[in-house]
Amino acid sequence: MQNKSKRIQQAIEVATKAHEGQLRKTGEPYIIHPLAVMKILEEWNMDEDSIIAGVLHDTVEDTELTLKNVEEQFGKDVAFLVNGVTKLGKARSGMKNLDEYLPETGDNLLKLLIATGQDIRVLIIKLADRLHNLRTLSALPPVKQQKIARESLEVFAPLADRLQMGRVRVEIEETSFRYIDPKRYEELKKLTKERLKMADKKLNKAKHSVEALLKKEGINYTCDGRVKSIYSLHKKLAKYDQNIDRVYDLIALRFIVDDVTTCYLVLGLIHSLFMPMDGRIKDYIAMPKQNGYQSIHTTVITKDKQVVEFQIRTREMHDYAERGLAATFFYNEQKLTSAYTEGRISRLPSNLLWIKELQETATKLASGEKVDTKKLRLALFADKIFVYTPKGDIIDLPQGSMPLDFAYRLHSEIGSRCTGAIVNGKMVSLNTKLKQGDIVEIITAKNQKPNPGWLDKVFSKHARHKLISQLNSILPGSGKKKK
Ligand code: MN
Repeated sequence: MQNKSKRIQQAIEVATKAHEGQLRKTGEPYIIHPLAVMKILEEWNMDEDSIIAGVLHDTVEDTELTLKNVEEQFGKDVAFLVNGVTKLGKARSGMKNLDEYLPETGDNLLKLLIATGQDIRVLIIKLADRLHNLRTLSALPPVKQQKIARESLEVFAPLADRLQMGRVRVEIEETSFRYIDPKRYEELKKLTKERLKMADKKLNKAKHSVEALLKKEGINYTCDGRVKSIYSLHKKLAKYDQNIDRVYDLIALRFIVDDVTTCYLVLGLIHSLFMPMDGRIKDYIAMPKQNGYQSIHTTVITKDKQVVEFQIRTREMHDYAERGLAATFFYNEQKLTSAYTEGRISRLPSNLLWIKELQETATKLASGEKVDTKKLRLALFADKIFVYTPKGDIIDLPQGSMPLDFAYRLHSEIGSRCTGAIVNGKMVSLNTKLKQGDIVEIITAKNQKPNPGWLDKVFSKHARHKLISQLNSILPGSGKKKK
């Protein structure tokens, strides 16, 4: 405790006293939980107010302490954050069905949006809270474990992704998936381990030859290997007919270099050593992913016939990919968005402009102005929806997707042979927009073929791409139809 500021020490004392006598399901004193949340926020380099709010986040809800007490002792900002986290907790179960919380039916969501819109730190504290609850999930009864794990996978993992907190997203996904489908989790873990062992020597050889070349060219770099997470492997295998040989990025070698120019230079050097695979070079530096992720990926075949994915990025890109928005709070005592608005930080990553928009909309809401809440929902949950296969697998799709997008996502053959779709037990037409939580079943027929009319019935880039290449192979030229 000696390194902590006076205010944080005081918060710890207040929270310890307030939670006195309360126990967690694990049997430990309750204070263990807020202290763990505090530690996570410290690891994320959050500012002092957030850390204090993390210590106090359950006091107003679960103890005698009032918001007023918090404000008197720790100031307006901390009280604001604690209040936001409390409100978010209450609205949480409704986040899957935000429509239920439209203004005419209740104002929880309004408060939530106003809270989060004005200060994104509320969401980050909530993520830390959820992360610790997930880490200690084993103490809860199985029914609760399932509920929390599913909710984490559906709401909190996408939220972490939206905030670009890659490392947190992966931890949430891995832990949740382990509870949702333990058998599959272990199976895939074993499979990954076997593959790693098989490829180990060849990978090292490839790594060494790249390193030798970079040294010769005098390029400054760090290199590490990254193994695909179990949950993303699970998702990818569903796309690839469970064929692990088609998953080329199970293991990737990551080179972190000083600047963007060097990224492209390294790409060239790698291609001078190994044969790149056709269509497997992805320039997310020039064209960042939707969540702002930047890197160059290329898959090559080494002389030993080993398929390896290389990822090349700058240090800054790497920090954002791993720590995301929290990285922005580094040494920053101020609210991110206001710091940006007032010009104290030079750049808000372009993909995070939604935060600014959300903030503006929330300000309008707060002052009683009418706004389109549907738009807010988009801002908060990106443009993703989560739908289920009849077996209960979760598939995420861009908002606006239709049954064919879902079908192509499962497999391109399921897409091309699709004759109809059943959504929540009812036959629907192929231009039906899918909604969050829909259960989608695709009907196929062996002799069905894709036709150009389907171009109006796909929304996602992925499905569009697959469909066009199928159309080109059966009716040359027909896939060129413009949108
Ligand atoms: Mn909590």
